[in-house]
Amino acid sequence: MGLRVILVEPEGEINIGFVARVMKNFGFKELVLVNPKVSIEDALPYASHGDDILRSAIICGSVDEAIKGYSLVVATSSKVSVGEDLLRIPVTIKDFARKVAELKDENVAILFGRESVGLTREEIGKSHILVTIPASKDYPSLNLSHAVAIVLYEIFNAKAKSSQLGVIEQPKPKEMEVLLRNIERAVKALKMPAYRERKTEIVLKRVIGRAFISRHEAYVLSGFFRKVHLLLSGNKK
Ligand code: SAH
Repeated sequence: MGLRVILVEPEGEINIGFVARVMKNFGFKELVLVNPKVSIEDALPYASHGDDILRSAIICGSVDEAIKGYSLVVATSSKVSVGEDLLRIPVTIKDFARKVAELKDENVAILFGRESVGLTREEIGKSHILVTIPASKDYPSLNLSHAVAIVLYEIFNAKAKSSQLGVIEQPKPKEMEVLLRNIERAVKALKMPAYRERKTEIVLKRVIGRAFISRHEAYVLSGFFRKVHLLLSGNKK
């Protein structure tokens, strides 16, 4: 599957073109546009030698469609929290890139938001991990194509440097789905108030995302949460 760059409702043709160009610079091929607000034709002049990437870009009608089949879904944002806002606890791009370099046959989808308002909370909630580019606290919000450039550069660089290249086998998308479903069932079986259920699910999903678990770890965790669910719901199997 590789690594795919997803632009959610991009608004400017210059940005779209520049994103295709920088993908070419760092050797990434798969670009997905979710409901782009401008035409690919208009963006082509800005793509330069990345025009092939732009021409073969996949156009999707929803984020769900764009991330389907990916084991690790990544949201990017300048708005982060170190405390209360569980959805916005970030990993820095450098740490993230180092982990991506360790993945064998990476299966990673990275979401970038709209120039005007970024990604919605609902969209961020679909991700396993939130990545941020540290920047001045006076104005941490980068231009979309600049943010993509930094993210791809760091991954490119980490891959060139890592001595641990390609050692971690990621869970398959289906296995990740089953793990998250087993977590959801176990949490539900504990019969907490709804808001705590949601919080607990987000925390578990994010902790698992940040840990870059292996396929085998996903299998063991999935079995554990399944057992919890079965025991709590009175089924001893
Ligand atoms: N006013 C919007 C700006 C979005 S910038 C906002 O504050 O949300 C467009 C996109 O670029 C963002 O959605 C994000 O995907 C990416 N981006 C911009 N600055 C970033 C940063 N510091 N770290 C990570 N991603 C960033």
